[in-house]
Formats: sequence, C-alpha cells, structure tokens
Amino acid sequence: HSGTTSRPWDDLPIRDELRGQSPYGAPQLDVPVRLNTNENPYPLPEALVDRIAERVREAARDLNRYPDRDAVELRTELARYLTRTAGHQVTRANVWAANGSNEVLQQLLQTFGGPGRTAIGFEPSYSMHALIARGTGTGWISGPRNDDFTIDVEAARAVIARERPDVVFITSPNNPTGTAVDAETVLALYEAAQAARPSMVVVDEAYGEFSHHASLLPLIEARPHLVLSRTMSKAFGAAGLRLGYLAADPAVVDAVQLVRLPYHLSSVTQATALAALEHTDTLLGYVAQLKSERDRIVSELRALGFDVTDSDANFVQFGRFADSHTAWQHILDRGVLVRDNGVPGWLRVSAGTPAENDAFLDAVRTLVNEIA
Ligand code: PMP
Repeated sequence: HSGTTSRPWDDLPIRDELRGQSPYGAPQLDVPVRLNTNENPYPLPEALVDRIAERVREAARDLNRYPDRDAVELRTELARYLTRTAGHQVTRANVWAANGSNEVLQQLLQTFGGPGRTAIGFEPSYSMHALIARGTGTGWISGPRNDDFTIDVEAARAVIARERPDVVFITSPNNPTGTAVDAETVLALYEAAQAARPSMVVVDEAYGEFSHHASLLPLIEARPHLVLSRTMSKAFGAAGLRLGYLAADPAVVDAVQLVRLPYHLSSVTQATALAALEHTDTLLGYVAQLKSERDRIVSELRALGFDVTDSDANFVQFGRFADSHTAWQHILDRGVLVRDNGVPGWLRVSAGTPAENDAFLDAVRTLVNEIA
C-alpha cells in the first residue's frame, strides 16, 4: 500500500506508529466460492446448533450478571480436549481462553512485549503477529526463511542471538505457506531464545489439527517460557464464535491476568464454546475430510504443473506467477475468491467442500499458461 493515500484519520492525533498503516482485512466479497480466509466450509451440524441454542438460553437467564471471569468450566473442557487429542496431560491451570487467538496473542504481547521490547517472526508468516506487535508498542523484527519456506535454523539462531527479542513467534503450520515446524526446530529456537534473554516463545498452532505432525503441546513440560496458541476458528468450524486459547506453564496463565480486561469472555461465548466442545468428535470428522481434500488440491495442482508448497494446514500455497494479482483476478472472474497475501509469485487457497475445490481447480486449469 502506498504511503501517499489519504486516510480518514489523517487529521486526528493518532499514534505516530499507526500513521500510514492499513487495517488488517481480507476482502469480504460476495462470490459463489469463497476460499480466501481459511474458514471451515462446513456449517455446524444441526444437533450442535440446537445444543448451542439450549446452552445460550441458560446463559441468557444470567445475563444480568458478569460472566465467570476465569472461564473455569470452559478452560477445564479445553484442557480435556488438548489432553485427549495432543497426547499430553494438561489441566485448566495450563489453559487460558480469549476472544479468538488474536486476542490471546495480544494479551501475550501486552504481558511480555510492549514499549522498549521486541518480537520476532519468520516471514512470510501470519501478518497479525507484526500488527499486534505494533498495536502494543512492541518493536518488530522480521526473521528469515529458506526458499522452500521452512525455517532456516542457523539463520534464526543467529538473528535471535543478535537481536535478543523478548518474544519469538513460531507459526506451525505456518500461514500463508502451510509449512509445519518440527519439534527439533522449535527446541533449537527455544534454546537460542533462552540463551539470548530469556524470552517467551509463542508457537501459533491455529491450524494444528490439520497437520500431519503431532501437536507440539508435550514440549510445554518443563519449559516455562513456551506458549502454544490454538483456536476454535478453524478445526471447530467456529470462526464466528471468536474463541482462542493458549496452553503453557500455569505461571504464564497467571501473568496474562495482569492485562486481560475483566470479564473479557462473554457468558454467551463461553456457553457456545462449551456446546461446540461437546461435539468435538463430529467436528474432527470434518477436519479429516478437509485434510484429504487439502491433499487432493496439492496433488491436482502439481499434476497441472503448478509449484505447490507442502501443506500441513487447511489451505495450500500455489504458484508461481509472474503477476500473482492478475492470476488472483483471473480466478475471481471465474467465481472463486482465493487469497493474495502479497507473497510475490504465490497465491493461497483454503480447502473447501469437494464441490468448491472442484470449482477452484476448474478455474485454475484455465491459468496454466500463466505460470512463470
Ligand atoms: N494465527 C494464525 C496463524 C491465523 O492464520 C489466524 C487466523 N487467520 C489466527 C491466528 C487468528 O485466528 P482467530 O483470532 O480467529 O483465532
């Protein structure tokens, strides 16, 4: 975005670091096939919708009261879910929840970042890490990746040793590339970060349930500066709910209490999330379907001659295009909205229903001549 565009807030005394910035936002266009924000394409099952209505009705009777500030029942159930699916025993003392994992990340930066401090991410990665850093007054350091989008461990170690960041973000699977980070790499960066400062290491596992790899949750054992961030927006098909959570040493959960707003998580949100957690098995069934559709998109794109980054997420990065924006528009003109993340040469498509993916594959077939 050009710095010369005039903006409605130009005459307001906004903070200097916000000048010339754009708000985060993918286009919300009215298009038949929307595969641009890594949403789960499956609406919640009717039985779950009924259960949500029931639990919200109960919660409504108490809406004159503030919600459970500590979200005890919800954190207990999230801990149970993690213990069952990630192969490591955690309790509610290890778990904290907020309005989307974006708010979790914001609370972490408010607690461990802030003015005079820095955070690092290995880019391209989830752009909100840098934006939340800016919003919390935390300096941002852009770390490198290899050409295949894996993390260059030696280069990462070197930049951590040199910059001594207060917070290290590792996104696994990474958005927008789909790249998973193995436990060995996480441990190497954790050691480097402890030697340098010590700093907090935040593993953003928003897409963890879609990975071929096991969760990194067991690594939080005996690593008091390691935090895992998760969300119900993707695997639980509940992006509209706004429920994210972290797993870490209990002291981390205690520390974020210093910055969380009182009663940040509404009773309606807590009731809805609890209902969704009762239907975990059905929802994880959709995850299994999405993983196999993701793998089909990867192999069909490769068969068409596209470059495709290995994906452990519910989306696929493909290219390479001489002009990715023109390719994006070409696909959009055929009724399919994908994402141009500004990674030169590449686009990203979320795995949808089989019919949506077919529509996407039909649209890109007409693009084969455009591949650089
Ligand atoms: N982390 C990553 C890597 C993401 O891609 C996203 C959503 N696009 C989030 C966190 C935030 O998701 P939410 O706030 O919906 O939990």
